[in-house]
Amino acid sequence: PRNLVAVLGDQLDPDAAAFDAFDPACDRVWMAEVTDESAPYRSSKQRSTLFLSAMRHFAAELTARGWPLSYTRLDDEGNAGSLHAQLDADLTRLGATQLIVTQPGEWRVLAMLQNVAAQHGVPLEVRADRHFMVSDADFARHLAAHKSLRLETFYREQRKRFGVLMEEANGAARPVGGRWNFDTDNRHPLPPDGPGLLTQRQPTPPDAITREAMALVNTRLAHLPGSLDAFAWPVTREAALKALDVFIEARLPSFGRYQDAMWPDDPWLYHAHLSAALNLKLLSPREVIGAAERAYHSGRAPLASVEGFIRQILGWREYVRGVYWSQMPAYADANALEAGAALPSWYWSGDTELACLKDVIAQTLKHGYANHIQRLMVAGLYALLLGVDPRQIHAWFLAVYVDAVEWVELPNVIGMSQYADGGRMASKPYAATGKYIQRMSPYCASCRYKPEQKTGERACPFTTLYWDFLLRHQQRFAKHPRMALQIRQLDRLPDDEKQQIRRQAQTLRDKENGDDTLAPRRPE
Ligand code: FAD
Ligand code: SF4
Repeated sequence: PRNLVAVLGDQLDPDAAAFDAFDPACDRVWMAEVTDESAPYRSSKQRSTLFLSAMRHFAAELTARGWPLSYTRLDDEGNAGSLHAQLDADLTRLGATQLIVTQPGEWRVLAMLQNVAAQHGVPLEVRADRHFMVSDADFARHLAAHKSLRLETFYREQRKRFGVLMEEANGAARPVGGRWNFDTDNRHPLPPDGPGLLTQRQPTPPDAITREAMALVNTRLAHLPGSLDAFAWPVTREAALKALDVFIEARLPSFGRYQDAMWPDDPWLYHAHLSAALNLKLLSPREVIGAAERAYHSGRAPLASVEGFIRQILGWREYVRGVYWSQMPAYADANALEAGAALPSWYWSGDTELACLKDVIAQTLKHGYANHIQRLMVAGLYALLLGVDPRQIHAWFLAVYVDAVEWVELPNVIGMSQYADGGRMASKPYAATGKYIQRMSPYCASCRYKPEQKTGERACPFTTLYWDFLLRHQQRFAKHPRMALQIRQLDRLPDDEKQQIRRQAQTLRDKENGDDTLAPRRPE
């Protein structure tokens, strides 16, 4: 072919830049399913099935258009096993005057493509990813104009730039309703009787292609963590659009109010469950934001919910992508708090007595999904307080969630949840005791531990480790403007209680480090 257009598993958009001027008469699309993307610790059954099924649906769509396609299936004889090896073999076999790709979602993959192209002496054209509203150059300008990175500044800039939720008042543009931020109206716990039936998500039943991918994963990739019995993610654009509609009508009105709440056995609540569809490029952020904005203007959803939701997509989602590409590759090795503990092996099984983590991990393995607060203030927080090596908790997050692609997962984990970047993403560590979890969920009521207790047999491990975290990092944060208050609380603790906290925290750490028999086994 003249041009070989490489399409990666998270680039399933026929309008992507890589297809500009695609000529089926002389160009060819290249796609490959490879096992090393699903090596243990790299993916889960839910995530691998999602990618495989969505890729196969997309390939069928390209073929229906009559576009020539080289597609290697996971179970094809002669599958080279890695993206690098497969592309290398196919370039040798097919030849190409030029390799074209839309900017990948992972630094490692970009480096790999550059490498293979260079080895073959073929020019590689990396085209900007138009899916995102903020380009790398836009973000670089934002960085240059501001001393420190802060979401709020970035988000307001984008609201103005794209005219999202803006109105005219006295001849000037201002945010609709006169406020940028509705946090005080949002973030409530659920009422005592729970979320109610409204929050049920509308599952997408697996079709023949998805069932085939599930069978493949259950046989070839049986070693991966998690299960597929409940697999119901949209894997086509059509299904993703339907999921968007259901969210806007049924759940968006209560999204803001309950966006930080957690409820055992209800993973879905009022969230969108659209991150995987967005990240695979089945949906565009513009259309999702547009649908939410229309719901506000037609009176179907309150402003606080719509603003809270748009902030996640036009704010956080674009922001973390800017952080990723502007900070990589060094960002992946950041470890500002010098954390080195091993990730407890039960992160891969959910076999723990901590009721909150047990529920969050169980739903994660069952659905490949947890909401933002479950990720940040349960799974992420415990690793932060325990002092887990950031690379280990990063590997876990990248593997287990269906929406995990490194550009979005890494800044959220390394930056927001672990503070390993020393505060580029978050202005202070998200450190809290079990009492935060008690406020936002009913988990503690059914737990053997007590969130208010720092020490003793019933002490909540979050609470013990929180105080130990402050003690361990007392010097580092003593002068930190947003941590000083928390650190000063240590002054009120008697020395013998401090010692007891330290001892109990060390016992917890020793216990977690001991047993790795539950970790997923590498294939023989
Ligand atoms: P909703 O709560 O309904 O939010 C709507 C949309 O906003 C999401 O679909 C997502 O596209 C976007 N969004 C919300 N928060 C963020 C954020 N912090 N960063 C980027 N986009 C955001 N999101 C991923 O897409 N992939 C990941 O691998 C991922 N890893 C995370 C790891 C940690 C430790 C934390 C704290 C957050 C992570 N997030 C990740 C962000 C967020 O938790 C998920 O996007 C969200 O839970 C997905 O569920 P939803 O579609 O129901 O989101
Ligand atoms: Fe989680 Fe602690 Fe509450 Fe138990 S007591 S559910 S461990 S926060």
